[in-house]
Amino acid sequence: MSDLSDLYQEVILDHNRRPRNFRRIDPASHHADGYNPLCGDKLSLTLQVDGGSIADVAFEGSGCAISKASASLMTDAVKGKSVDEARSLFERFHRMVTTPPDLPVEDMGKLSVLAGVREFPVRVKCASLAWHTLKAALDRKAAVSTE
Ligand code: ZN
Repeated sequence: MSDLSDLYQEVILDHNRRPRNFRRIDPASHHADGYNPLCGDKLSLTLQVDGGSIADVAFEGSGCAISKASASLMTDAVKGKSVDEARSLFERFHRMVTTPPDLPVEDMGKLSVLAGVREFPVRVKCASLAWHTLKAALDRKAAVSTE
């Protein structure tokens, strides 16, 4: 078993301790619930989309440090972006965490701290949950599971 400590870099610990956008938008224009049964991570995502842009985005829920930090980083990354930009970020993030660990990946700024999950296949689902939930919300699906 490899050492997990490299995963818990400072940014992840910080976002886990003080998650950004940790609340509920009510009323919200879009929402979805995400569940990762493998780890027990649950999150509820609410968005306010105005004129094709994500004016506000927030999440609530409980889960491991990776899932919570990823949700916090995701909301920070897509807030103020257009829906198209957010979808493109989803694709890039998904590619980053599913590229084999021995291959180089695109630098995604702060989001790159999560590239370390590639070493731990189980953790990829924790890191991806918020992004799959975002996609579900934008696609008007009420719920998504990583299984
Ligand atoms: Zn997890």
